[in-house]
Amino acid sequence: MEHIVIIGNGISGVTLARHIRKLSDKKITIISAETDYFFSRTALMYVYMGHMKFEHTQPYENWFWKKNRIELKKGYVKTVETKSKTLYFAEGDTMQYDKLIIATGSKPNKFGWPGQDLEGVMGMYHKQDLENLEKHAPNKEVCKRAVIVGGGLIGIELAEMLNSRSIPVTFLVREDSFWNGVLPEGESGMINRHIKNHHIDLRLSTNLKEIKSDENGNVKSVIIEETGEEIPCNVVGLTAGVTPNIDFLKDSEIELGRGVKVNRFLETNVKDVYAIGDCAEQHEAIGNRRPIEAVWYTGRMMGETLAQTICGNKIEYKPGHWFNSAKFLDIEYQTYGWVFGERGRPEYEKHFHWKHNDDTKCITVAYHKDTKEFLGINTFGIRMRHETFDTWLTEKKDVDYVINHLPEANFDPEFYSKFENEILKAYNNQLQTA
Ligand SMILES: Cc1cc2nc3c(=O)[nH]c(=O)nc-3n(C[C@H](O)[C@H](O)[C@H](O)COP(=O)(O)OP(=O)(O)OC[C@H]3O[C@@H](n4cnc5c(N)ncnc54)[C@H](O)[C@@H]3O)c2cc1C
Repeated sequence: MEHIVIIGNGISGVTLARHIRKLSDKKITIISAETDYFFSRTALMYVYMGHMKFEHTQPYENWFWKKNRIELKKGYVKTVETKSKTLYFAEGDTMQYDKLIIATGSKPNKFGWPGQDLEGVMGMYHKQDLENLEKHAPNKEVCKRAVIVGGGLIGIELAEMLNSRSIPVTFLVREDSFWNGVLPEGESGMINRHIKNHHIDLRLSTNLKEIKSDENGNVKSVIIEETGEEIPCNVVGLTAGVTPNIDFLKDSEIELGRGVKVNRFLETNVKDVYAIGDCAEQHEAIGNRRPIEAVWYTGRMMGETLAQTICGNKIEYKPGHWFNSAKFLDIEYQTYGWVFGERGRPEYEKHFHWKHNDDTKCITVAYHKDTKEFLGINTFGIRMRHETFDTWLTEKKDVDYVINHLPEANFDPEFYSKFENEILKAYNNQLQTA
């Protein structure tokens, strides 16, 4: 029987395994060095915040795997020898495969800062990071201040986590406004104010120079690059982005860039070896997407797609319209299609922006300046329906249509009705003055 071996028990690897099982009787093994069972990485924050126990982040009961004849192996793959189709484990054993899928996810970036490996310095990616945080920041007495380095979606989650235990946070952000590489100005500015309103010490245009140690090898303070200021702290969270977790493949025959290089069928340069999820890098980016897509649902889609190919129905990875969602403290964020920040915005992209007076809700609609075609929408503090925008993007609706039909996209019509007139009025005003 063909043996399918998947390295990585994250959303991409597990989705692949489940779908191969639905479609076939192949022997399936999933390997992970991190945990015995699949868990939802996006829910890690709620464990620290006390909303759920770690066990609750596991979407499947422990018996599920055996029942579905999916073998689980705990171990770290140290090397892959593709000629003999053999995996070598750090623990000393080996495993043979017929088809190999690399689904090893990401690891937090470290940029060679002095002190980056001290006790109390951590990323926020793996379960072990959560355990480390629990150890070094159980409460505000043990951790008098935490410094977070890097202002992305994981950084803001870590800030919220620490905030929930009343641990003072200093947040170092290289950019001059929060996440403005992605968000347009109005949104990024609103998030800056929202972070500060939560008593988080947000330092924009600020870089980390060095992390200092006490006499026991624990974090004592950080030094700021621009001013030389020393900030005492007990924990440093490194959240300056993630990189594919593929170092163990360096000596293999598998082609690597930043990630594992794959074509549209998620195949690598080596026969019978594939890559999916955060660690896969497309040779050519798909549309406006990045060649590496480090988000949950694309990992799931890649897993579903590759299961078809492995079971004899070869199909391309076609992710459709871009969407994503996240949370900035109390403000939910959703994005559909493309809305660019200042950086990388095409010359033809125009924006309509509306913000509520309470400074916690806004929307930005992107459209083509000549054709008026609807290109994308960002919503903050207002929930909208994914399917509606997906249809409008496919049907290439224009911006007038979208603004006038926003109630149809509304997730919660009662709630939204408070804003719809305001949005329409603002749109008409902006058009008249444009
Ligand atoms: C705190 C946090 C919040 C997030 N929130 C969101 C969100 O709101 N929305 C969103 O879209 N995305 C979010 N993400 C990103 C999302 O979680 C990832 O895109 C997704 O989990 C990646 O899945 P994956 O299957 O590619 O890899 P992973 O989930 O990283 O799984 C890979 C597994 O492989 C294991 N592994 C790696 N190398 C080896 C080896 N050599 N041997 C054995 N095992 C190995 C790893 O330890 C890991 O267990 C968040 C991420 C984090 C960290």
